[in-house]
Amino acid sequence: MKKEFKIPQRKPLMIDMGRIEEILQEIDLTGEPPQDEHVRQYYFIKKNRMLTDALKAERGRELTFHVNTFGCQMNAKDSEKLSGILLASGFTETEEEDADFVLFNTCTVRDNADQRVFGRLGRISHYKKRNKDMKIGICGCMMQEASNVEKIRKSYPFVDLIFGTHNLYRFAEYLCEILSGDQKVVQIWDKTDQVVEDLPSDRKFSFKAGVNISFGCNNFCTYCIVPYVRGRERSRDAREILQECEQLVRDGVSEIMLLGQNVNSYGHDLEDGISFPELLEEAARIPGLRRLRFMTPHPKDFSEELIQVIKRNPNVTRHIHLPLQSGSTRIIQRMNRHYTKEQYIALVDHIREEIPDAAITTDIIVGFPGETPQDVDDTIDVIRRAAFDNAFTFIYSIRRGTPAAGWEQVPEDQKKVQFDRVLKEVQESARRQSEKLQGKVMTGLVEEVNSQTEGYVTARLSNNMIVHVPGDASMIGSFYPIHLEECRGFYYFGTICEDRT
Ligand code: SF4
Repeated sequence: MKKEFKIPQRKPLMIDMGRIEEILQEIDLTGEPPQDEHVRQYYFIKKNRMLTDALKAERGRELTFHVNTFGCQMNAKDSEKLSGILLASGFTETEEEDADFVLFNTCTVRDNADQRVFGRLGRISHYKKRNKDMKIGICGCMMQEASNVEKIRKSYPFVDLIFGTHNLYRFAEYLCEILSGDQKVVQIWDKTDQVVEDLPSDRKFSFKAGVNISFGCNNFCTYCIVPYVRGRERSRDAREILQECEQLVRDGVSEIMLLGQNVNSYGHDLEDGISFPELLEEAARIPGLRRLRFMTPHPKDFSEELIQVIKRNPNVTRHIHLPLQSGSTRIIQRMNRHYTKEQYIALVDHIREEIPDAAITTDIIVGFPGETPQDVDDTIDVIRRAAFDNAFTFIYSIRRGTPAAGWEQVPEDQKKVQFDRVLKEVQESARRQSEKLQGKVMTGLVEEVNSQTEGYVTARLSNNMIVHVPGDASMIGSFYPIHLEECRGFYYFGTICEDRT
């Protein structure tokens, strides 16, 4: 039986199509592709339009796409760009995975993320059997590892497009190649020094947005694959960042998160660049920007200047995520993180003194090679002394290609025992910190309808805490004063206590 074509369902568009049309009008397709990367990619977007128009006419329907994102906020931000290019190229987004073009934007920070991608690829092959014209692409960090590319070429030959992190800005060009014929495209680069600005992007939310300030990382923590798959740190020009923030605010965004693998080393690679605290303060001064977040800072680069900028700008959110990873100086050194247990505690104490209403959260890895129960005692000591408001706790897993992968590993059963100890401490710390807010009234930005509790929406406070309040979808994107009534560990149930702020 012929499959009925479903009208694609999706969120409202958050892409400036008017501006894209203006740029496309200026593009001349009669000559060779331009050398300037920005103009070049719009050249291919315009070509894609012609190709998708022809395909739509031939099939008598819209062409759909689906981007499946794995991993961190940087990947989520990249997916907004990929979706933007697909929309500008004439596709329509759908929630369904049996779209005309499906793209997997992968993550390789943890081994199970790789396995999930392979599992999904296996499933999607069935859709391709039904729809021979379907195109499948895969990109992101996983593709920077040669063994993964090899595996896909051998075991998943139906994949049409493979590209990596350094050449993501060339996506429109690769898309053009696979739409033009049946050839496969595999393009993996080792590095790039390019930051291509102003390509189409389709934001996920109308009221909040992420803005990249830098790409890559120079730190080489011994467990981390990021510097190998994302390359050395490249900072964007401050003017470009600030203009993007200003435009977002003009578009109705009230919360911006500045994104980078190590945000507070921003600008070190720029001649005549400004520092991260200077950039943060400039962004905080943008009229109408009610909340400014940043993710992720490194403790070794957390300067006094940065603390003072946060302190004097109330729209910089009262949430500092400060990855600890381990509380043992010996393990921190083996991780190549460049601070000691004492320095970390002193930094937290100082932040708490200067910005008492800031929540401090962290990341902790348990079971790093060489870690003993005594090292975990140190981690627990830091959890107690830092009084973390919340923490993401991970069991160490080997990442091929990193130094720590070749070191003697902690037995799995021992990792699990120590992980449970750490998790218990983290949960108690989060509960103790959260309870301190009981009965307070704090401003929350409503982000979504609560999928667990009918008739409720979920708001986020400046300190990043989640509060569920009675409400409906009309409240999404607005700020409300919220009475924090019932602490549930690290989140609250509350009520709106007066008119909208
Ligand atoms: S700072 Fe360390 S953990 Fe963070 S991205 Fe860079 S290398 Fe990885």
